[in-house]
Amino acid sequence: MIGEILPGSTIGVLGGGQLGRMFAMAARRLGYRVHTLAPEHDTPAGQISDVEIVAPYDDLDAVRAFAKGVSVVTFEFENVSAEAASTAAAHTVVRPSGEALAVAQHRLREKTFLAKNGLPVAPFAAIQSEADIPAAIAHVGCPAVLKTATFGYDGKGQVAIKAPADVAPAWETLGRRESVLEAFVDLACEISVVGARAVDGTWAAYPAVENVHRNHILDVSTFPAAVPESLAKLADAAAYTVLDALDYVGVLCVEFFVTRDGRLLVNEIAPRPHNSGHLTIEACVTSQFEQQVRAVCALSLGSVDVVQPASMANLLGDLWEGGEPDWSAALSFPAVKLHLYGKTSPRHGRKMGHLTALASTATEARALVLQARDSLR
Ligand code: AMP
Repeated sequence: MIGEILPGSTIGVLGGGQLGRMFAMAARRLGYRVHTLAPEHDTPAGQISDVEIVAPYDDLDAVRAFAKGVSVVTFEFENVSAEAASTAAAHTVVRPSGEALAVAQHRLREKTFLAKNGLPVAPFAAIQSEADIPAAIAHVGCPAVLKTATFGYDGKGQVAIKAPADVAPAWETLGRRESVLEAFVDLACEISVVGARAVDGTWAAYPAVENVHRNHILDVSTFPAAVPESLAKLADAAAYTVLDALDYVGVLCVEFFVTRDGRLLVNEIAPRPHNSGHLTIEACVTSQFEQQVRAVCALSLGSVDVVQPASMANLLGDLWEGGEPDWSAALSFPAVKLHLYGKTSPRHGRKMGHLTALASTATEARALVLQARDSLR
């Protein structure tokens, strides 16, 4: 492929979290060198990298120097500023592009983009000022969810709306920020599709994953999802539409709501490997992280074939409340894999690691991963 960045080259990662860590592990296995830039020292990704630069993302001189030292820059979270992305792009290749970031990091732009590309989304309305509230309620109805347009993830920046009178106080609670009022969806389940697109436009998507959230944070993912074939095909096609419309290069996740009456709605896009794709490390021929390395380095994509059904359970900081979890208990399950992210302070709701179980069916894998996680307490 034109512009291939081959093993031995250096990849730069903006961000220091677990997604960067697992990306760096895949990159180093393939023989790349990895540089990371994040505001803290000894980050999950920094621990695995060859060079860990400590600088705030808005230190554009640091971003410039970082970009000059690598063959390609990628990022492991979507709230990288447009300035940081364009500063890096002035000195090296940046994949995915800043444009994909700009769409995904703003809920209004994201929903407008999805709707414009013919993808079904829950009814929504923008709230820019208090004056927009009555029309938004009239359009969306109740119950609903009020979400800030920017910097919302894992349930942050969201308030449930039960009655029209709740909207104004909720908007105050969210700091009178630009927001989206979205109809509450009567969910049968949630699924996601992780897909990738290469520099030459070829693409590949893993089969859909079924996701269960707890307190708005992903709790358990099971793969392949138990949804009708027709729905899985629609989800796959939607992922392709998004990849293509963004002229995307890299791995991307599309999260969906499946309604009780059998419809598929797009919830949101994550322009990076995703928590629901962690199980591809063990369950698929190519993990989502290796796929990201291949895509951003302008190589051919790897096979997304399923080796074995799997289920993943997140390990949040809460698990440490009674002391260090019993790792040897979980490791006594031969088909369960432990991933810890190297984080030292186990705060409430913080993603510290995950377990992935493999079994001959997805249902068995889910039962096994839950049993293994229970054994940690
Ligand atoms: P989000 O950050 O928008 O992905 O929301 C996190 C989780 O909150 C989702 O995965 C759902 O479980 C739930 N949620 C968000 N928006 C809605 C909605 N409009 N209707 C029902 N559940 C929702």
